[in-house]
Amino acid sequence: MTEPLTDLPAAHAETSRRSLPARQQPRWPDPVARDAAVAALSASLPLVVPRECDRLTGRLAAVARGEAFLVQGGDCAESLEAVDAASIGRSASLLQQLATVFGYAMSLPTVTVARMAGQYAKPRSAPTEVRGGVELPVYRGDAVNGHAFTAADRTPDPHRMLRVYHASAATLNLVRAYVGGEHSDPSYALERVLRFANASPERAHHAVLAKEIERAGGFTGADGWYTPGELFMSHEGLLLDYESALTRVDPATGRAYATSGHLLWIGERTRQLDGAHVEYFAKISNPIAVKVGPTATEDELLRLIDRLSPEGEPGRLTLVVRMGADRIRAALPALVERVTAEGRAVAWISDPMHGNTITAPTGHKTRRLDDVRAELTAFFEIVRAQGAHPGGVHLELTGDDVTECVGTDTGFDDLPTRYRSVCDPRLNPAQSLDLAFHLTEVLTT
Ligand code: PEP
Ligand code: MN
Repeated sequence: MTEPLTDLPAAHAETSRRSLPARQQPRWPDPVARDAAVAALSASLPLVVPRECDRLTGRLAAVARGEAFLVQGGDCAESLEAVDAASIGRSASLLQQLATVFGYAMSLPTVTVARMAGQYAKPRSAPTEVRGGVELPVYRGDAVNGHAFTAADRTPDPHRMLRVYHASAATLNLVRAYVGGEHSDPSYALERVLRFANASPERAHHAVLAKEIERAGGFTGADGWYTPGELFMSHEGLLLDYESALTRVDPATGRAYATSGHLLWIGERTRQLDGAHVEYFAKISNPIAVKVGPTATEDELLRLIDRLSPEGEPGRLTLVVRMGADRIRAALPALVERVTAEGRAVAWISDPMHGNTITAPTGHKTRRLDDVRAELTAFFEIVRAQGAHPGGVHLELTGDDVTECVGTDTGFDDLPTRYRSVCDPRLNPAQSLDLAFHLTEVLTT
């Protein structure tokens, strides 16, 4: 039965009693201000409710069984200054367009999950950054500090967690309005996919596939490539003060949920078995994911799976493979073989972005579309060769016309013109759809 939202009591006291070391956390300079922010968040309304999270677990169970395909994507880091209605609408729409193409490619229903409404905390490789002889704390995402290289911006400010909470609530509200309204007709996404194919420099190449997708357009709808009106929200569950404060217990079941988003994932840098992130994630009942890089060993991965998904319920745990085009063929086959042989019910999806980051001659962090394509193609081959299901993609992308990755319409020299990301480089809409079209060709020919 549906419980009123006010009956979701804060579980912060319980989940914050952490004994284990937490990596990648800010040093808040003012503990009183931190406690005040955490108390305010603990008294705030949940952004999502358990029933929605359970629905996503059900959808991801279909992915784990090989009966659905996950399309997950969005900004590397959302920015409070860049919260913009049109941009949110374009990114939500782009995910639906990709779902249309991948759904056709796989002949499967798709599940769409945005990196949105909460993707405000970033793991970093060093605690400080030095520029021109000045050393300041590194930028850790807008939930922690500001991006500008000034002492004022870079000093961690716990009040930012409240700003992020409110920005996430507003973003979620708008997305629910868009996907439940004008975006809810599948022909909306299909029409935009066709528009992309006709405007593409590779028009001659893409037109044939676009025609086939259009012809198969009848397959969209309630049982089609995505469920109209449904777009779930996800982010990296990195900042434990924020996540713990927004954890609530569902009185109907007594289970705890992160209510900051539907799906949370553990990043590559915080997945230690004896770390606080794994401890927190083991306690919540949301569908969760964990990034798996090229150094993960078979035994380590099995232990992680058993810790995070002890009951082995399909849909509970998604593994997001991010190895790099040059390492995936050596590192992934044994992992998929072992996990499959040991009968663990997980969904395998590919993040072909994070193992392929390079620095351009202009100094910008970028990624070559060729490398992204190569890793994604290898992922499909490897997972299928092991008799498992390549269950989806996890991309950094935006509906805005940025120049952050190179390939298709953008070279190194173009990067300075429209580079807007405060963290990693994102695919623009043409690059995203180009990737989906190329993968479709590989899969259907
Ligand atoms: C990210 O998804 O932005 C990220 C930091 O990824 P990873 O944990 O895989 O490095
Ligand atoms: Mn990133």
